[in-house]
Amino acid sequence: MPEVKEFQTETKQLLNLMINSIYTHKDIFLRELISNASDALDKMRFESLKDPSILDGDTELQIKIQIDKENKRLIIEDNGIGMSYDEVIENLGTIAKSGTQSFLKKLKEAESEKVALDLIGQFGVGFYSAFMVAKKVTVETRKWNEEKAVRWESDGSGTYSIEECEKSTRGTKIILDLKDDLEEDENYLDQYKIQELVKKYSNYIKYPIKMKWEEEIEEGKTKISERILNSMIPLWNKNKEEITQEEYNEFYKETFYDWNDPFEVIHFKAEGTTIQFVALLYIPSKLPFTFYSKEYKKGLSLYSKNVFIMENCEELIPDYLSFVKGLVDSPDFSLNISREILQKSKQLSIIRKNIEKKILETLKSKLENQRDKYIEFWNEFGRVIKAGLYQNIQEREKIQDLLLFDSSLSDKEKITLKEYVERIKEDQGNYIYYAVGQTIEDIEKLPQMEAIRDKGYEVLYLTDEIDEFLIKLMHDYQGKEFKSISSADIKDENIQKKQEESKDLLSKIKEHLKDKVKEVRLTNKLKESPACIVSANEAISLKMERTLKNLEQLPFEAEKVLELNPNHEIFRILQEIYQKDPDSQELKDYSEILYNQALLREGLDIDDKHQFAKLITDLIVKANK
Ligand code: ADP
Ligand code: MG
Repeated sequence: MPEVKEFQTETKQLLNLMINSIYTHKDIFLRELISNASDALDKMRFESLKDPSILDGDTELQIKIQIDKENKRLIIEDNGIGMSYDEVIENLGTIAKSGTQSFLKKLKEAESEKVALDLIGQFGVGFYSAFMVAKKVTVETRKWNEEKAVRWESDGSGTYSIEECEKSTRGTKIILDLKDDLEEDENYLDQYKIQELVKKYSNYIKYPIKMKWEEEIEEGKTKISERILNSMIPLWNKNKEEITQEEYNEFYKETFYDWNDPFEVIHFKAEGTTIQFVALLYIPSKLPFTFYSKEYKKGLSLYSKNVFIMENCEELIPDYLSFVKGLVDSPDFSLNISREILQKSKQLSIIRKNIEKKILETLKSKLENQRDKYIEFWNEFGRVIKAGLYQNIQEREKIQDLLLFDSSLSDKEKITLKEYVERIKEDQGNYIYYAVGQTIEDIEKLPQMEAIRDKGYEVLYLTDEIDEFLIKLMHDYQGKEFKSISSADIKDENIQKKQEESKDLLSKIKEHLKDKVKEVRLTNKLKESPACIVSANEAISLKMERTLKNLEQLPFEAEKVLELNPNHEIFRILQEIYQKDPDSQELKDYSEILYNQALLREGLDIDDKHQFAKLITDLIVKANK
């Protein structure tokens, strides 16, 4: 005679909620039951390690799913460890977990189904989720080392019955009498539906999940075969040594829908952390073309013991590395954990930190040991990395060593900031010089480059629009301040003296140029060129001004300064003219020409092209009269 027992009060409340309040996400019951079966098989395998003979002929550890259309039953069976009579009562009659009371209290207060599901996920109700789809659940189980089996049965309403029974094989069989009012898309008697769910949630369970498969080969003639529904190979749980590059690549392409092999595979087990996990990460070889669109899904997939929990979990990876694809498998997460709870979880941020560290290490080692490969990476992802630094300046320390720049001393090879600093000239002071321009060629022709090149100082060439913003943001590297060659006067007291001596001439030129410039002054950074234009404000270069203007983000214009080279022939001529006649028309015209050609060399537009052309024409005519 079966014994009828009451569920523990808390269990009753929980079951009540499961049956009466949750109408979505029912699909997950299968994942829960398969996951339990897999746990039971793990335990059996562990037992058999000590003594293989206990498998007693039944050696293939497996899970079987059976669809019984006639009786509207779905059956999930394993040949795992099984449960004894007392264990059944203990495991299926109570919720032994601590904190159950407060959990239930919260659950009852939950104002929506979604919140309730989140809570359930957090606590993991596992087995009881069967009652979301079944009006009656029957469990027949026999523990591996016992003669007698046990039958447990319940409709989830408050009591269950339990009795001894016969069962010829070891393990657990769960029989679900499906509810009559399931929706059309909850047809758990459809083999395709079951296959889909297994593939989605349980594909990497390491034991075969078998099911009889019916196929109509001719009219009225069906072929029945047995199918393994899961692919079983959780690549990430194998030892690295056992996996070929080919396997890694194939898995990547299949899983993340990429045509190309990945640039790099990072596969590691967390060591020395408070949380256990395995991560399998891929750096793609190409920036996904959707990367900058809303369609691009960031984040890694999350598994718990080979069971899929969710994809695109953004919290697993810092945003600036979101081009990385991959997954994390950690036994420390419950299967139904919701995004909301995940976001707050401490485990997650520990994992994220570890992953970030690992990716940065990998990139750094590429940079140091395989420069060619790193350049390939940089060409694809450099802008993303830069944007990353721009968006999280607090991450600066981590990211800055990954940056590459063109430079005046490195013949087309990009260099790192570290390399710059390593070979900085002794008399250069605490400055890292940089120059901004459209192309390397443009920059090399800048008048400001002349003297600095003479000194042999290295100059970083910033050709990407974002570069200058980055440099401003970083301010310095290893205590060396970034300095634009436009604002950099090379140390020289002479220039001050000369400036003083030519005061009147300079203010005359300024007078001619009116508001076009804020100041006219002398510089010693020019050698062959007579003049250059710089920004009056060190914080914003003329190039940056243009960028911001294009973005319509600049409410004002950067003021300009005209700088003259006192050692140039032209400067001598200007002085002569001024001495003869401070108000000469010639001086006015020359000021205009110098100013405009300096603008042109800086890559800027000149204010009045026609007037400029006319001035030059007149000049040629005059010279030949
Ligand atoms: P959890 O899996 O998180 O422990 P569940 O509610 O899913 O919680 O399962 C409760 C318990 O019931 C399990 O811990 C296990 O001891 C037992 N159990 C459930 N399914 C099986 C099974 N197929 N074989 C053996 N024991 C099982
Ligand atoms: Mg479970």
